This record gives sequence, C-alpha cells and structure tokens, in this order.
Amino acid sequence: MNERRIEIESNLLDVENRIKSAAESAGRNRDEITLVAVTKYFPVSDALILYENGVRNFGENRDDEGSQKSNQLRADAIWHFQGQIQGRKIPSIISWADQIHSLDSLDHALKFNRILQAAGESRRFMIQLSLEPSREDRGGIALHDLPKFLDSLLPLTQLEIRGVMAVLPIEIEPSAGFAEIVSYVKSLSHPHLQEYSLGMSNDFEDAICAGATHIRVGSSILGSRPALA
Ligand SMILES: *Cc1c(COP(=O)(O)O)cnc(C)c1O
Repeated sequence: MNERRIEIESNLLDVENRIKSAAESAGRNRDEITLVAVTKYFPVSDALILYENGVRNFGENRDDEGSQKSNQLRADAIWHFQGQIQGRKIPSIISWADQIHSLDSLDHALKFNRILQAAGESRRFMIQLSLEPSREDRGGIALHDLPKFLDSLLPLTQLEIRGVMAVLPIEIEPSAGFAEIVSYVKSLSHPHLQEYSLGMSNDFEDAICAGATHIRVGSSILGSRPALA
C-alpha cells in the first residue's frame, strides 16, 4: 500500500508540473484549470490517497462505481460523471454526481430535469460534443447541432448548462481538434458556455493550450487501468 501511495504521489506531482508548464506556455493562470482525477476501475483506496494529496475533483464513467466511491470520501469531494448516460441510471447518477459532463440527448435532459425538479435541486452540466458524430456508440453531438440542442434545453430550469466536453477521435491531431471545438463554441457567444472539459492523459497539454478549463486525467496519475471486475 505504501508503495502504491509513493507511486500515486509521484505521478500526481508530475501531472501537476505538466499542467503548470502547459498553462505557463499558454500564458494562462494555473487556477483557471480544474484537474479532474479519473478514478474509474481503480479502488477507493486510490481515490483516498489523491484526496489526502489535495485532489478534490474526481471523474467516474459508471454509476455504480461513482456511487460507491463517493460514499466513502468526505463530502467536499466533487464528483464528475463523464460516462455514457443510461436513462434508467439517471436517478442514481443524480444522487452522487455534482456535475455531468456527458449530456448529449434531449430525452436524458428531460429526465434529469424532471427528477431534479421534484427534488428541488439543480446540477451543473456540460454538453458532450463529437467530431465523429456517426460513432454514436461513443456519444456526443455534432458541433453544428449544438445551437438547436441549446435551444431545446432552455425550458429545463434545473439544468445549469456550463460548457462542453469532448473526447477526440484518435485520428484527429489534438491541437487542431481542440482548437476547432473551442473556436466553434466561442463563435456562438453563448452566455452559458464558459467551461471546456477537454484533454486526457495523452493530450491535456494541447487542451490547456486551446483553452480547457477542466482536464480529465486517469492513467497518467493512477497507471494503466486494471480490467473491469
Ligand atoms: C477514461 C476517460 C478519461 C481518462 O483517460 P486517461 O487517458 O486515462 O487519462 C477521460 N475522459 C473520459 C471520458 C474517459 O472515459
């Protein structure tokens, strides 16, 4: 366990240094960027080590895992749901996730809104965009569908739309892909779209350079992911 702690602490320091230097070369303030540590498939003991090292933002892709881990960390931890949404899981996702990065369907938005309204609550959302929207299995809407989607969300008062999220297709060069997304979203001048959840272990420096406000980093901090149980 001690060995694991040393490994995680050293990786975290490394990632923190990479964030700082990417921010510096982009002429940005480090504080503009939220590091979301992606703990999916890893045990809660790893999340605890991160918490003890000051990490407060955690990302999970699956409802059951997020629900279990969030129960075991202190309440000031902030949980981000970034996986594909299944309609029947929405009540449970709401019970633990503070922010949802992967909204990409009106049906899901309606269901979130209905349940949140009944509970007198709201949540922060990002809309997931895709540069290959034909790959529906990966989620996300096409850039050109964003304005219409935003209009359809307007009546949904319990959804605080904050920005956009994307995972780039492997064949797209990261700096070009992120720049395309950021410049398109900026061109809309939409008052609610201020957050950009872009960048993972392999491309977060490019994302920071393009303007990311949230980076979702898993394997650079925790190592290669164990197989799913
Ligand atoms: C798994 C995952 C990450 C983290 O990926 P790493 O390459 O391990 O940093 C980030 N975002 C999403 C949506 C993921 O599914």
